[in-house]
Formats: sequence, C-alpha cells, structure tokens
Amino acid sequence: MKIHEYQAKAILAKHDVPIPKGRVATTPEEALAVAAEIGSWPVVIKAQVHVGGRGKAGGVKLAKSEDEVREHASAILGMDIKGITVRKVLVEPGIDIKHEIYLGIILDRSTKAPVIMASAEGGVEIEEVAKVTPEKILKLIVPPTYGLRGYHAMIAADFLEIPADARKMFKKVLDGLVDSFLENDCSLAEINPLVLTGAGHVIACDAKMDFDDNALPWHPALEELRDDGEEEPLEVEAREKTLNYVRLDGRIGCIVNGAGLAMGTMDVVKHFGGTPANFLDIGGGAKAQQVAEALQLITSDPHVDVIFFNIFGGIVRCDLVAQGVLDALASLPDFEYPIVMRLSGTNEEKARQMLENSPIHIAATMAEGAQLSVKLSEERRSASV
Ligand code: GDP
Ligand code: MN
Repeated sequence: MKIHEYQAKAILAKHDVPIPKGRVATTPEEALAVAAEIGSWPVVIKAQVHVGGRGKAGGVKLAKSEDEVREHASAILGMDIKGITVRKVLVEPGIDIKHEIYLGIILDRSTKAPVIMASAEGGVEIEEVAKVTPEKILKLIVPPTYGLRGYHAMIAADFLEIPADARKMFKKVLDGLVDSFLENDCSLAEINPLVLTGAGHVIACDAKMDFDDNALPWHPALEELRDDGEEEPLEVEAREKTLNYVRLDGRIGCIVNGAGLAMGTMDVVKHFGGTPANFLDIGGGAKAQQVAEALQLITSDPHVDVIFFNIFGGIVRCDLVAQGVLDALASLPDFEYPIVMRLSGTNEEKARQMLENSPIHIAATMAEGAQLSVKLSEERRSASV
C-alpha cells in the first residue's frame, strides 16, 4: 500500500525526523490560508499523488507571494500526473537547499534484510543513478538480529561527506527513517531529497513510504491512510470483494485457482501470442457468487475479449468448480463473452460431462486453452472492426 508524501512525513516526524511544518489543502483558498499560517516566503506547493517525478511534471512549485500561491495551487489542483488527477496539495515553508541527498531503506530479497541506500546524488531518480553510476550509491545491510547500529550512520555520513556539525542531526534522521520502516513493516521508506540547508540543518524535503500489504493486518491504524482515489478502481472493487486481482492491459481475462498457476497462466498466454488482461487467483474454493463477481469484474475492463479459466483440481474438486461456473452463468443471463476452460485433476471427467451442453469451450491442456483463448480473442476483435 502506498501513501502520500504528507502522510509519510507525519510518520517520520513522530520519529523525530525534521520536516517542514506545512499542511494539506484541497482548494486555492485553503492553500492561501496555509501560506498565511506559515507566514514567510517562499512557500512550496506540492501535488499529492501516489507517483514520483512530480517536480519534473510541474507538480512542485515555489511561490513568493499570495498571487503566486493562488496561481500555482490553481494550476496544480486538477493537474494530471502520470494518469492521476491531483486533488490535494501540500503547502510548506520553502527550504533553502544547499545540497540534496538520497536516503532510503528497502526490504532486499537477495540479502533477506533491510538495506539502507544512500547517495550524494539526491533529488533525481535513484533508479537513474543506479543505472548510470552505481558506485555513487552506498548500500548497508541492517542485520535483522542486531538492527541499526552506530556504525551505519558513521559509514553513511562519511560516504555522503556530511559536514561535522550536521552529523548528529543526520544520525537522528537515519534512526527515525529506519524506525519508521521497521515499526510499520514497510517495503520501502525514502527521503529524496534529504536536504542540507544553507544554515547547516538537515531536513526531509520529500518522503515516500510503501507498506507490505501482507503485514497490514498487524497495523490496523495504517488503513486510515489508504487513499482509494489513487488506486486502480477495479482493484479497489476487487479488494472489497476479497478477490486477489491485479489489472493488466491485455485482452484475455484469466481466472485461475492458485497464485503460482495464475502467474504460469499469464506466461502461457503470452507464449502463444496473447496478452493477459489480469492476474486473478480465486483461491481454493470457487463458489458461484465468487465466480460471478470475478466474471463481472474482469469484463468491466473494456479491453477484455475472452475469459480463460485455468483450474487445477488438487484440493478443490473440478466438478465443484464446474458447478460454480454454471451457477454463476445462470445468474448472469446477459453474459456474452466466450469462455475457455481447462480443468485438470480431481473429478475432471465429471466436470467435463457437466459442461458438455454449455457454451463453454473445454480445453484438454493449459497450452490448448491458451491457444484457443488467443484465437477467440483475435476473432472477436476482427469481428468488432
Ligand atoms: P518529486 O519530484 O515527486 O520527487 O518531488 P520532490 O518533493 O522531491 O521535489 C522535487 C524537487 O523540487 C526537489 O528535488 C527540489 O529540488 C525541489 N524542491 C522541493 N521543495 C523545495 C523547497 O522547499 N525549496 C526549493 N528550493 N526547492 C524545492
Ligand atoms: Mn522526491
């Protein structure tokens, strides 16, 4: 789960990381009121959207007067940044930037530990630095058994050439960032840029935090930070229906039992020249209502031409799935998409017999099912033009 910059900054502030004292506004008038509270110029107006690169997109602007606040807030509110409409801006006191640093922590799969990343090349996208000049990024493992130690801050401060009188503050920022990350089960927490100011202070100019969705049940309070308006509407709907769904941009809707098989199904569809419209794991059970919800969800994506069910009857019985699909179709009399179904495993014969007189296309293997889905998708597209 992603959150906004202002929310991530509030978490950092709780852990004693210095942040600019600002507030969120949803209208230009409100932005003016926040600027008045701040009471000094310039202020910075920042689009709050769940994507990076807002600066480049024109979503971060300095304002030196009330007129400029009005002008920039009006321009940024309603702006489209990478497909997301800006509905909130953060108004903060402008920072006198002397140097921009990158400081982040991620959960690294290869070392199986949180890894701190630091670079003196802050402000720009870290992926770019990693690609072009990887030697400019320092990586430090935080061993899960020991946690953060004094040496982490020392090594990082040396690498970043933090001036002596700012080191204590830098250590405080690193402590706060790592604590925020660990306490909330983040997959990523970053400050980019962490700023060294003209006056020699260290302050978090930007902040980003992603939470591990699988750990969210342990942090019910974080649910309040969720902003459904920033997420793919079909995925929001899927979550409400407890369907494990990820929207993609292809044409073949996939309904599969098991996450691994669902990944494999997408690969096989691609292998035969098709494009998957989604990832969907319906899990072990396939009750009629759940199947009907999955069918409705997938086909509300206008790109979808065909549905491909790929069912392996290991724990679940194929005949129960077949019955679920038949019941679901009976509850959706206007359903007009071709359905291909591959059923393999427990009671597959019985399942096939049950589907014999239905409009569902039965495939003997996963490969055959994928190929048939690709063919039907192409036919439907050429018929519609
Ligand atoms: P991002 O582009 O989405 O990562 O947004 P950031 O919050 O990182 O802002 C982008 C850039 O705008 C920063 O790297 C800074 O160079 C600049 N910026 C942001 N806030 C301020 C500020 O208060 N003062 C000044 N001078 N520049 C700022
Ligand atoms: Mn940034």
